[in-house]
Order: sequence, then structure tokens, then C-alpha cells
Amino acid sequence: MSRAATRFFLTPSTRLPNPLLFPKRRRPPPPCTGATRASFAAMAASGLGGGEAFRLSASAGAGAGALKLFKGDITVWSVDGATDAIVNAANERMLGGGGVDGAIHRAAGPELVQACRIVPEVKPGVRCPTGEARITPAFKLPVSRVIHTVGPIYDMDRQPDVSLNNAYTNSLKLAKENGIQYIAFPAISCGVFRYPPEEASKIAVSTAQQFSKDIKEVHFVLFSDELYNIWRETAKEMLPQVEK
Ligand code: ADP
Repeated sequence: MSRAATRFFLTPSTRLPNPLLFPKRRRPPPPCTGATRASFAAMAASGLGGGEAFRLSASAGAGAGALKLFKGDITVWSVDGATDAIVNAANERMLGGGGVDGAIHRAAGPELVQACRIVPEVKPGVRCPTGEARITPAFKLPVSRVIHTVGPIYDMDRQPDVSLNNAYTNSLKLAKENGIQYIAFPAISCGVFRYPPEEASKIAVSTAQQFSKDIKEVHFVLFSDELYNIWRETAKEMLPQVEK
């Protein structure tokens, strides 16, 4: 239908919402029972690869949390645009950077750095100390929120395992407090911060396990085949796998 024809058929009651009042279209959250299938469909539609699923708790029933692995760009990941969040591997200033941080800021648009700028500094130049997490809106990203966390620089942190554990745990706590049901992490600290990915994947999976009752699905979006395979091997060792 042409634009003129569309205008002709739009009566006052069917007029599209004002984009300033309703800046983002939100799909309603999927029903709980179909959530697993819904999130697979959403990932396939965004062009992410992989898609293996694991149960976060061996003992819990059908309603318990799931862990899923995808391959690709975390900035295209979303489930419902309402109860979903991606995690940014940020730095302590929270004003953008390289790697996944740069990709998230580019995709979210300049409002994201403005939102980060108003996060209070806890000391000069530090908005989010290593191991902590902060939350902002997601602006042009297809998800509801961005959770910013800072992983350890592997060769400089005295206890990199503790700091990485804190980064995952505090992100998941913040997600829970904000009603997030679906969360996607990149491989925090496994880029320029040089955390060995085998060790990092074990910390990532074990912290996700601790939130099996709080968050419906914890996803990892891995940027390379190598990282995807490392996360898959760890998940297979630690968790029961489920059919797609
Ligand atoms: P850090 O400083 O925590 O090491 P980096 O951004 O350098 O953060 O890397 C973290 C991980 O994110 C790396 O494994 C990197 O390959 C990955 N990565 C980079 N860009 C993206 C992206 N667009 N989506 C998902 N993962 C990404």
C-alpha cells in the first residue's frame, strides 16, 4: 500500500502512536510456557548462530532457569524488548571504549553515553568500580536495558577470579532487582583484559547457576567460534543439556 493510501485509511482512532510519546515499540513478553521457544525464534531472526541450551539446575522442574549459548554480535540480541538486558564489558569511567563496549555504544546511539555520564562517580573518573554493575536504558538497542559491569584486567588484578565472579554476580543481582528475565553476557574480560577463556567460562557458568530460580534465561553471546566452543565444553561439563 502506498504512503498516500496508508494515510487515507488511518482514521483518528487508528492513527499510529506519536513516536515522541512512544519512542520504542515493545512486544509483550512471551508467555512463560513458550519462553524457551520464543527466545530461540528471536535469536534466529536476529541472525545469531549456535543456540545450544542447558538447564541451570539439575533438580528443578520445567519452570527453572536455562542457559543458552549463541554466536555473534550481542548488539542484535533481544527476546521481548521489555524484560531483557544485555551486559556491557565496560571500563570504570563508563564512557565507552573499544571491543564490545564500543559496539554497544555505537548501536545504542549517543543517548547511552549521556545516560552513563549521569551515573554518579564514586571517586574521580570511576562510575563503576571493577566487579560492580550499573544499569541504564538501552535507547536504540532492541533490548530494554544495558547492564554495565567491569571485569578484571587479568594480569593486574590481585584476585582476578574473585573480581570476575563479582562482575557476573552483581550483573545478575541488578538484573533480578530490575525484573529482568532474559539476560545476555559477552565473554567479560576475555578481550583486551586477557582473561584465559577456559577459566572465565567456568566462573560465568557457575554464577549463572546460582540465579537459576531468579532469571528465566541466562544467555552468552560469544564473538568467535573459539570462544563459543570453550563455553559449550564448559556448559556440557557442568550442566544437563536440553533439546532445542
Ligand atoms: P574486556 O575489556 O572485558 O576484555 P572486550 O570488549 O575487549 O572487553 O572483550 C570482551 C569480549 O567481547 C571478547 O571476547 C570480545 O571478542 C567480545 N566482543 C567484542 N565485540 C563483541 C560484540 N559485538 N558482541 C559480542 N561479543 C563481542
